[in-house]
Amino acid sequence: MVEIIWCLPVCLLPRWSPDGVIQVLMVPRSSLFQKLEAWCQLSNGDWASGKILSTSGEESIVSLPEGKVLKFDTESLLPANPDILDGVDDLMQLSYLHEPSVLYNLQYRYLRNMIYTKAGPVLVAINPFKEVHLYGNDYIEAYKRKTMDKPHVYAIADTAIREMIRDEVNQSIIISGESGAGKTETAKIAMQYLAALGGGSGIEYEILQTNPILEAFGNAKTLRNDNSSRFGKLIEIHFSETGRIAGANIQTFLLEKSRVVQCAQCERSYHIFYQLCDGAPLSLREKLNLKSVDDYKYLKQSSCFTIAGVDDASKFHSVMEAMNVVHIKKDDQDAVFAILGAVLWLGNVSFTVIDNENHVEIVEDEAALTVAKLIGCDIGSLKLALSTRTMRVGSDTIVQQLTLSQATDTRDALAKSLYASLFEWLVEQINKSLEVGKLRTGRSISILDIYGFESFDKNSFEQFCINYANERLQQHFNRHLFKLEQEEYIQDGIDWAKVDFDDNQNCLNLFEKKPLGLLSLLDEESTFPNGTDLTFANKLKQHLNSNPCFRGERDKIFSVSHYAGEVVYDTSGFLEKNRDLLHIDLIQLLACCTCCLPPMFASKMLAQSAKTVGNIYRSSGVESQKLSVATKFKGQLFQLMQRLESTTPHFIRCIKPNNLQVPATYEQGLVLQQLRCCGVLEVVRISRSGYPTRMSHQKFARRYGFLLLENVASQDPLSVSVAILQQFNILPDMYQVGYNKLFFRTGQIGALEDTRNRTL
Ligand code: ADP
Ligand code: MG
Repeated sequence: MVEIIWCLPVCLLPRWSPDGVIQVLMVPRSSLFQKLEAWCQLSNGDWASGKILSTSGEESIVSLPEGKVLKFDTESLLPANPDILDGVDDLMQLSYLHEPSVLYNLQYRYLRNMIYTKAGPVLVAINPFKEVHLYGNDYIEAYKRKTMDKPHVYAIADTAIREMIRDEVNQSIIISGESGAGKTETAKIAMQYLAALGGGSGIEYEILQTNPILEAFGNAKTLRNDNSSRFGKLIEIHFSETGRIAGANIQTFLLEKSRVVQCAQCERSYHIFYQLCDGAPLSLREKLNLKSVDDYKYLKQSSCFTIAGVDDASKFHSVMEAMNVVHIKKDDQDAVFAILGAVLWLGNVSFTVIDNENHVEIVEDEAALTVAKLIGCDIGSLKLALSTRTMRVGSDTIVQQLTLSQATDTRDALAKSLYASLFEWLVEQINKSLEVGKLRTGRSISILDIYGFESFDKNSFEQFCINYANERLQQHFNRHLFKLEQEEYIQDGIDWAKVDFDDNQNCLNLFEKKPLGLLSLLDEESTFPNGTDLTFANKLKQHLNSNPCFRGERDKIFSVSHYAGEVVYDTSGFLEKNRDLLHIDLIQLLACCTCCLPPMFASKMLAQSAKTVGNIYRSSGVESQKLSVATKFKGQLFQLMQRLESTTPHFIRCIKPNNLQVPATYEQGLVLQQLRCCGVLEVVRISRSGYPTRMSHQKFARRYGFLLLENVASQDPLSVSVAILQQFNILPDMYQVGYNKLFFRTGQIGALEDTRNRTL
C-alpha cells in the first residue's frame, strides 16, 4: 500500500520551484522517514536535526551530527525542511511549520546577523547584543526607495507611513517582549525612520532627543538589562497633510518608584542619579552639596555603581543638552537637579529614638539641612513633617509622634513621591515642547514600548500590574490577528478553515470582574482601615479559588495562570503600593517650599484627592478616595486599548536569545518559550491559511482600474475588480471574492502596486 506522506506544498512556494513542478513525495509506509532529515528532541529538550538510518516498527535510528547515533520514537520525529529553505526571511515560506523548524530558521539567520524575520504579518526581532550594521541613512534610503525588501524595523515603519497616507487611518507599532529583548532599541529605530521620512521642520530632532531624557530618568540597570525601562511608554507622532511630522505626544505608564529607595543587589537606581554625581560641573556640585555615589545610602545599598561600557558623566552632558533641545528652561533645570539632590540626601536622613515607645526625632545633620535647603523649606518644618503626623479625631486635631519604622517609611514615601512627581512633570514639559501645531491633520503613528511579561523568583505589585497589562495587550494581538480575522471572513462569506488560538479572556476576567476579581478585591481591601496584605491574600483565596486561572497558596502567596505561564505573587506591600498615599503633612510641606517644583507637585496631589473631602488621615479610619494605583492603571490601559483599537496595528515581537546579554549565543529553550508566549507559530499558521490582504471592491476598482487595457462593459466595482484580476493573471487560489471585499494571500498585491507606481 502506498500513502502520500508530506506533500511539499510547493504551490505555496513558487520561488522555490522555478520549473513550476508540483512535487509530491510518495513513499511506502515501511520506508517512512528513511534517508530523510528529521528533527529529534534530545533529552535536554533541545532539537537536533539528523538523518534517519532505519525505521522499524515504532522506533527509528537517527544519525546526528558529530557521529552520534540515537534511537527515537518514530512518532516523535518531525520532518525537516529541504536545505533550500534554510534561513528564509518569512517563516510562512517554510514547508514544515513546527517548533524546531521555526527555531532553526531563526537561529540560522541570527548567527548570520540577520536578526529580523517575518512571521506572516509580525516582525520577529532577535536582540543581537552587539552592533549590527543594518541602520543609518543608507539603509533608510534603501527602504524608502524599496530597493531593499528584507525584514526590518524600517520596513515596518515604512509600511505604517504608507498605510497611514493611503488608508487615512492612524497606525500603531506595538512592540513587545521580555525585559532585555530589545523593545526600547527597536522603538528608537522605528522613530529614527519616521523622523528621517517625515522630517524637515526640526521637530523630529526634538522628538528623538526625548529618548536620552526619559531613559536617564526612567531606566535603570537590572539583572536582566543594563538599560531596563522601568515605565511603559506610548509615543504618538503626528503628521501633517503633506506627511511631515507636526508634533508628538508621550504617555507614560506606571513608573517603578520603589526603585528610588530600594533596589536589589547588583542593580542600580535610576541612571540620572549616577550621571548627576559623576557629571555635574563644579558650580552645580557646590549648589547641591553633591558627594560621590557611594556617599548616598539609596545608591549604596545595592553595591553597584557603574555599568560596563557606560560613561555616566558624558551621559549627563547629553541629558543636559537634550533638556535644552526640548526647551526646559535653565531655572527649571536647576529645580530638577535640586529635587534630585534632595532625594539623594533624603536617603541619608537619620533618626534618634527619644523614648521607650520607639518614637523618634530627626537628626539635624548635613543630610537634613541639605534637604531643607534644596527643596526650600525651613529645617523645623521638615523635622516635624518627618517625625510627626497630624490627625483629626472628631473635631480635635492631635499630633502623633512617629516610631522609627513609621518615620523611615514617611521619609522614603517623600523621596519616592518627589521623584515620581518629577518624572511626571518632565513628561509634561516634553509634551508642551512637542505640542502639535496648526499643521495637525489628526493622522498619527503611535509606538508602544511597554514592559513585557515578568516572572521572577519573587513577584510583587509591580509584576502584578505589568502582567495584567500584558494580558490586555495579548488580547489585542489575538483579537486583531485571529478573532477579527475569522469574523471578517465569515461576515464576507469567505470559505476559510478556522485556526485555534489561546483565548485569554478567562485570565482577564480574573483580574477585572466586579466585585470579585483581583483588582476589585485589592481596592476593597486597600480601603479597609484594618486591611493587611495577609487579609487581602485570604480574601482572594476565599473568593477566587474556584477560578481555574487562580490558585491560593500558603500565607500571602497566590498564583495566576497567565497566557505566558504561571506566576507566583507575594502580596507583601500590595496594599501600601496600591494606596500610594502621601500624608497630608508632607503635601503641606511641599506646598510651602520655595523651590519652584514642590508646590506644583503638591497642588497636583491635592487636586487628585480633592474629591476626598480633604480626608487623607489614614490612621483616623477615614480613607482617602484618591484613585488607587491599580484602578488608575486599569483606566490608563482601557484608554490605551481604545486608542489602539482605532489604529491599524503593526506588531514587532522582540526575542532575547540568551540571559547573559552576550552576542552570538542562541539558547533554544529560552527562545522557544518566548515564541510560545507571543503566539508566533499560530500567527504564521493563520496567515498562511488565510488571506491577510483585503480591499473593498470599490477601493480596488478605484485604485487599479486605470491600469485596465480594455474598457469593461459594466462599470460596477465588482466587474472592474474581476477584470483587473484577470488582466494581471492573479491565480484563483490566491484570492477570494467576498460580498464586499476582495481577499488576497500574502504577496499578491505587490505586483499590482509596482505597476501602479510605475504608471503614476
Ligand atoms: P528592552 O527594552 O526590551 O528591555 P532594550 O531595548 O533596552 O530591551 O535592549 C537591551 C540591550 O540590548 C540594549 O541596551 C542593547 O545593548 C542591546 N540591543 C537591543 N537591540 C539592539 C539592536 N538592534 N542592536 C544592537 N544592540 C541591541
Ligand atoms: Mg525597555
